[in-house]
Amino acid sequence: MTARLFAQYRSPAEFLRLSQADLETEIKEIGLFRSKAKNILAACRVLEEEFGGDVPRTLSELTTLPGVGRKTAKVVLSNAFGIPALAVDTHVFRVANRLGLAHSTRVEEVERQLEDVIPREEWIRTHHRLIWHGRRRCGARKPACESCTLRAHCEYFYDATGAIILKVN
Ligand code: SF4
Repeated sequence: MTARLFAQYRSPAEFLRLSQADLETEIKEIGLFRSKAKNILAACRVLEEEFGGDVPRTLSELTTLPGVGRKTAKVVLSNAFGIPALAVDTHVFRVANRLGLAHSTRVEEVERQLEDVIPREEWIRTHHRLIWHGRRRCGARKPACESCTLRAHCEYFYDATGAIILKVN
């Protein structure tokens, strides 16, 4: 969807020519499209009014944009600008805790613990690796522990039904 959308609308100013209803139609195949359309337009307005139409390159500035939280801001910093940042989404949170790279029920604490143990130059790739592993092997409900290459390093082990049969530590 973004490939099509960004080919048509190249800047915040171009998005702002759309009405909310028009933008909703453009993005209706994604979840929560109404609130996302509202936030996109509100964020574009702030980008135009506060940042001269450019996307800022700091966490504090990015999180002033409507609809942009810490995770999204870090994804933008790392993926759009190549600035080291370790975004913690649901996969990163789950896999990091299972592997023992972090131990916390709080997202910001997991973020801080990961940043402590992962070298800064690996933050961006680690984010992608943990997401990849979470999607391919270490799913939320039935992680494929039997075929997981990280078993020896993991604090958890689940059987085929998704029940925990071993938890180290
Ligand atoms: S052994 Fe299981 S819980 Fe641990 S990382 Fe692999 S898939 Fe996830």
